[in-house]
Amino acid sequence: MTHDVKLTYAALKQCDLDDPLLAKRAAFHLPDNTLYLDGNSLGAMPKIAAERAAEVVSQQWGEHLITSWNRHNWIDLPFSVGDKIGRLIGAAPGQVVCCDSTSVNLFKVLCAALSLQPKRHTVLSVNGNFPTDLYMVEGLSQVTGTQRCQLKLVDDAKLEAAINQEVAVLLLTQVDFRSGRLFDMAKLTRLAQDKGALVIWDLAHSAGALPVAVDECNVDFAIGCGYKYFNGGPGAPAFIYAARRHHSTISQPLTGWMGHKTPFSFDTRYEKAPGIAQFLTGTPAVLSMSVLDAALEVFADVDMQQLRQKSLALSDCFQQLLSQHECLRGLERITPYNADERGSQLAYRHPDAYALCQALIKQGVIADFRAPDILRLGFTPLYLRYVDIWTAVEILADVMRSGEYLKTEYQVKHKVT
Ligand SMILES: *Cc1c(COP(=O)(O)O)cnc(C)c1O
Repeated sequence: MTHDVKLTYAALKQCDLDDPLLAKRAAFHLPDNTLYLDGNSLGAMPKIAAERAAEVVSQQWGEHLITSWNRHNWIDLPFSVGDKIGRLIGAAPGQVVCCDSTSVNLFKVLCAALSLQPKRHTVLSVNGNFPTDLYMVEGLSQVTGTQRCQLKLVDDAKLEAAINQEVAVLLLTQVDFRSGRLFDMAKLTRLAQDKGALVIWDLAHSAGALPVAVDECNVDFAIGCGYKYFNGGPGAPAFIYAARRHHSTISQPLTGWMGHKTPFSFDTRYEKAPGIAQFLTGTPAVLSMSVLDAALEVFADVDMQQLRQKSLALSDCFQQLLSQHECLRGLERITPYNADERGSQLAYRHPDAYALCQALIKQGVIADFRAPDILRLGFTPLYLRYVDIWTAVEILADVMRSGEYLKTEYQVKHKVT
């Protein structure tokens, strides 16, 4: 990319004034002197989420106790939250349920998909996929034996060629957690289904970050997180999408009472619930699901195309400002430049990426590090301004130019990076 015109603070200030999403920032609590470029890992806190947390604890739990299951519809939260998420990923109602963690949900949809593929056992994915996704497939293999479930991994470049008649399930994460590379969901889904395979998409870094159209792409199953771009709070419950056409024919093995047809008849034998409810296992985490429910309200009037435009613009500004600083030449971008091939983050390789990240955090710019050498920056259009990008790059340049990051204190490895 070449830019003739230098990007100035004044120009960015004007971008903010012209930004249709600028007002959304007021919906969030954002700490002073902090530039948050890690909403891709843990979304910032919507004010409405904090209010709901207080209300659910003191009123619903405190005052109304167990009657809240009916009185405040706790029992329907997995479905009402599911449908709110469904709207944001292009799923018609009744196909998304909120529950458990992404990892556990992957196990459930993987089993469901394999239950439709009695003659195939290969689960195809890519080497760079998020480890938990691969670990969960391995774990299932251990239970079923490799004649029912066997993980096959290829590099991104070999993926299309590897989609053949042997593949039972194509398991992909739409946006790569390291590089931010975005897969073409429509195309890969079609390629897989043409060969008789089913697809599972992990939307951890795409749900709430860009327009997703699971119904339109004819996706079979999808899963994703509540605590990243949905801002549902630390450890917020995750979600499952299962296309309606599969509901009557699938089965999944975590057959808890909440997935039973009639949980409160307390039958001795399991009979699966019709529809998306069959993916529920145990009692919903009401506190955290309520907080996620409130956080999703922030998206109620958000145009996802507009959000996507701003996300790309913010990251383009970041890149251009970066290239205006001689001292930042050592950061090697690994995120594709093409807008159709990237999500809402930028990733740079640098031998001192960990120390750089720690030094940035110390100066109030929160980014994160991914082993072995990647500095990752997430762009969340609902609460980031264009001028924030300016300040973040200025601080990054300072840290680099001054050698601040070389101090030994920034070498100390924390448990969570
Ligand atoms: C963040 C993330 C997860 C997280 O899984 P949990 O079970 O919620 O911890 C899973 N998959 C991908 C691709 C992720 O980025």
